Amino acid sequence: MDGSGLKNYCSTRLGLRSAVRQQDGDTIDNRIAPSASPADHDANLEPQSLMADGADHPPQILFPGKLRAHGSILSNRSARDLWTAAIPWKKMSDSPRILDGVAIAAQIKSEVVAEVQLLQARGITPGLAVVLVGEVPASQIYVRSKVKTCGELGIFSELLTPPETITTSEMLALVADLNDRDDIDGILIQLPLPKHVDTKRLLEAVAPGKDVDGFHPVNVGRLQSGQPGLAPCTPAGIMEILRRSQLPVAGQNAVIIGRSDIVGKPAAMMLLNASATVTVCHSKTTDLPRFTQAADILVAAIGRPGYVTPEMVKPGATLIDVGINRITDSAEVEKFFPGDPERAATFAKRGSVVVGDIHPAAFARSGAYTPVPGGVGALTIAMLMQNTVTAAKLRRGIAAEKK
Ligand code: NDP
Repeated sequence: MDGSGLKNYCSTRLGLRSAVRQQDGDTIDNRIAPSASPADHDANLEPQSLMADGADHPPQILFPGKLRAHGSILSNRSARDLWTAAIPWKKMSDSPRILDGVAIAAQIKSEVVAEVQLLQARGITPGLAVVLVGEVPASQIYVRSKVKTCGELGIFSELLTPPETITTSEMLALVADLNDRDDIDGILIQLPLPKHVDTKRLLEAVAPGKDVDGFHPVNVGRLQSGQPGLAPCTPAGIMEILRRSQLPVAGQNAVIIGRSDIVGKPAAMMLLNASATVTVCHSKTTDLPRFTQAADILVAAIGRPGYVTPEMVKPGATLIDVGINRITDSAEVEKFFPGDPERAATFAKRGSVVVGDIHPAAFARSGAYTPVPGGVGALTIAMLMQNTVTAAKLRRGIAAEKK
């Protein structure tokens, strides 16, 4: 970065930093209106479903409310009561159990609030830096939701928005600066980055102790060898769903469809660490149903709407649907959700609905399943918050809670 570039970048950054700090609530949220439709149920329960199921929720359905960039603690009693409420088991007779990701995320967030309060009593406020390059609308929605959730939980957040034209070396300088800062415990670089930026190099430049996405090779290695570290948020959320729903993992046949670095591979490692017998399938797997039909736990992280059909599912299996696919064709909506008035209303309102990688008809064969939206996706931001607090503790040699 030459001298003038650095100056311009710094002023952008300082301007933004002060904007986030100054607004203390309103600038972002004033652009946000509540959702009125019952079809928005999941989003209404928890703002974090935006990240999770963000594909289904345009920005206007975000909750209005105060954004606090620094040091705010949830103090609204009714909201806290909601967060600490027991996780409901939505099970009726022999119908499958719905694993309510929104309720589990709320529980995790209430625990994060308590941890933040303990840290603050010691003079420590966990801090998260979120780097958003350019103007990708979906990324802007996700990032806004992350910053907002930080404020709600009492985590300091700083949003950095370098322009699309930023170079790899300028990004490396930015990351080096964040690595050095004592008030920043977690660094999140929102993906995807522009094509000309070397994403791998950048993710490896983040200090492993601040890598709250869990993508750094050091953290990947720690996960593999079962050492404490920072684990990727979405698979960590899957494990929380299983653990908090008291679903057995040890000795179970777990099949994961998808082998991405973000979801499939770390999910496989976490399930293996929890003593499941793990099979990872992918696009080159031959006779996929042979594997899925043997799965006690089936994790679908493919990115194809309704790909897992009922006959691929072992009766009584636990189905974890990671997929978030937007469908915009009314015939497709009717195919996946025949006669469903809520989905029809959502489609009429937004012109799209989301469907997971598991065909909704397959859930009826399961013993338990995560819905889309309101399942796995709801956990991702909660786990990011948890990772930020864990990073703040690990960096200061404070023992992380044993689970
Ligand atoms: P990727 O595209 O990185 O990976 C998809 C994986 O699915 C690949 O391993 C691919 O195999 C495999 N695959 C593709 N087609 C088939 C097929 N026909 N049969 C078997 N395997 C197949 O996606 P991600 O892992 O990033 O995401 C997966 C889904 O999860 C997406 O819908 C995404 O939106 C969603 N997601 C949700 C999150 C949340 O918070 N809920 C977070 C992250 C993702 P191969 O490797 O051979 O190409």
